[in-house]
Amino acid sequence: MALPDWRPPRMSHLAVPPGVPPGPARHHPLGELEITYVSELGAGRLDDLATRVRLWKSWGMCQRHALGFLAVEASIEDGWLFQAAVLYAEIMERAEHALARHWFLERARAEANLEGDACPLCALGLTADGAAPRDAARRVAAGSRLEALQALASNTRVHWSAWVCGSCDGSGSSVRCRVHLAEELRVGLPVDLATHRARVSELAWRVDAYRASFGWSQRGSGTLADEGALIGAVGWCSGWGAILGWLG
Ligand SMILES: [Zn+2]
Ligand SMILES: [Zn+2]
Repeated sequence: MALPDWRPPRMSHLAVPPGVPPGPARHHPLGELEITYVSELGAGRLDDLATRVRLWKSWGMCQRHALGFLAVEASIEDGWLFQAAVLYAEIMERAEHALARHWFLERARAEANLEGDACPLCALGLTADGAAPRDAARRVAAGSRLEALQALASNTRVHWSAWVCGSCDGSGSSVRCRVHLAEELRVGLPVDLATHRARVSELAWRVDAYRASFGWSQRGSGTLADEGALIGAVGWCSGWGAILGWLG
């Protein structure tokens, strides 16, 4: 007897709606060697606790590597971002703790907690110039298709655009990514921590809901808002420049 497909039913947003122009041609955010490495993250390297802890401590990756991680997983898994949802559900849980209410030194605690280590992939010396090993050609090809992430991002835009940092895009919005929130705390600007805490909590539970939707009992329960929150979580952790630049 064939086992049931563990993945949620294909959601309509995975297909670009008819009549929508394909948009500008985009380059992959990563080079070949980086695509190989990131595809290994999705294929099991994330199960290694030391790797996972490094990614928690660095709030994921730098903007380009984090965007590339989404692109590679979307390419390989046809738009199902399970590994990214697991990783970012854990990281956003850490974010909730970072901004937790405290009766004493709340602001100083938040400032210290929002600091992070450097991107682990940059620390490995991974750059877009690196050529993949010859035997990795199939893995590079599997991780290089951009249509799935483009479709996902354009069909959840109305949801993730609510999370865009007003300092990253210069819009004047009061939303902040982690990097700019930490900076405002550091330089002593007035910061409404309760508002940021509420936003981070919503991001955290939405990303966790998307992660949970891959489980059999909650199969298919994820919403476009939850999936858009995964892009929101990546933007919150790393900043929005690369995502906004890539998606246009
Ligand atoms: Zn990096
Ligand atoms: Zn920002």
